[in-house]
Amino acid sequence: MTSYMNLKCPRCGNEARGFEYACPKCGSGLEAQYDLEAAKGRLDKASLGSKKARSMWRYAELLPPKPENIVSLGEGFTPLIRSERIGESLGLSNLMLKLDFANPTGSFKDRGASVMISMAKQLGFKEAVLDSSGNAASSISAYSARLGIECFIFVPDYASEGKLMQSSAYGAKAFKIRGTRGDAYKAANYAKRRFGWYYCGFQTNPFAIEGPKTIAFEILEQLDWAAPDWIVFPVGTGSGLLGIYKGLWEMKGLGLIERFPALACVQPEGCCPIAGALKGGSDEIKPIERPETIAEGLMIGAPLNGQRVIKAVKDTGGVGEIASDAEILRAGAELASLEGLFVEPSAAASLAGARKLVEEGTVDSDDVIVCVLTGSGLKTKTPYGDLSKIPTLSPVEEELEAAVKRIGLGRF
Ligand SMILES: [Zn+2]
Repeated sequence: MTSYMNLKCPRCGNEARGFEYACPKCGSGLEAQYDLEAAKGRLDKASLGSKKARSMWRYAELLPPKPENIVSLGEGFTPLIRSERIGESLGLSNLMLKLDFANPTGSFKDRGASVMISMAKQLGFKEAVLDSSGNAASSISAYSARLGIECFIFVPDYASEGKLMQSSAYGAKAFKIRGTRGDAYKAANYAKRRFGWYYCGFQTNPFAIEGPKTIAFEILEQLDWAAPDWIVFPVGTGSGLLGIYKGLWEMKGLGLIERFPALACVQPEGCCPIAGALKGGSDEIKPIERPETIAEGLMIGAPLNGQRVIKAVKDTGGVGEIASDAEILRAGAELASLEGLFVEPSAAASLAGARKLVEEGTVDSDDVIVCVLTGSGLKTKTPYGDLSKIPTLSPVEEELEAAVKRIGLGRF
């Protein structure tokens, strides 16, 4: 049972009658609104304790589709584990890692895709469209396949074919558009208007942030409703962080938490329009013309919802943080070699940001800090180690002994 009511404009308060991408009165993006009073009796600590759903749909009361329209691959309710070795090396006693790369297609985008495609079913759409070649495209393609609708992907013509492999496997039809990322966006929106396709862009589909909102629900439930001091999140479009922020308000509305964690928005040095503004004490987003970073998922030079992200971070007493590619690479290598977690650079950015917050004295050593690891390393082409250093040996004792000695294992 959902307590979803309608889409409401956060700027002018106008309530949309049906489905709209933007407020017909003022053009602002819309937000899903729920009857929290009705949800109160159905979504509480006791009822959650007995729920069978081990996915984000255990919070179905606060997600928009009717139960019969849910399109799910079992996304969400990902593990929250304590960092053993990295936390210790940073002098942190409570560094927690949210393994959101353990979602069906390998990224947190599955949460938003599951909600958006569920709503495609509810609203009767037969075609989904979006402009992306990365994790978002993979997620929307997978859930479209699950529902059995067409999925169209628009990418700039320079996008590498490797990135389209996963969505192509799910049966998506891709178009390469001559020009920039912005031109792909234009083409996707033309198709939306011309053919009436359902636009699943994470920046403008009003249901996109309803998925990542459940990251906040899960962290709170997994920490037994004691809000952490910090949630550190890597930001590209901002849909993840905005979702978490909305989720916190809804948990407060249900009386499940009192205090908010501070939200830290981490961006790479080569594309930090939001974190740069936050660090500089400004509310103004200066678009980045040519983003350049190994954190490909965070290369959004002109995030449409940048202002909303700044407001969310400030409201929680949070901060913006910037990490260089070298710092991101180090974090990715450490997550893999010290914790056994292989994530993509865009995800490692959250740990890189957390390290800087420690070094700058922004976080305390006993703070409870949750770094969200948003995407799997299995799709990345960025090597964390130097593969050229792997020795080639003949299968004889002498060569093996010499090679092991070179590695420097003292006991041999
Ligand atoms: Zn409005």
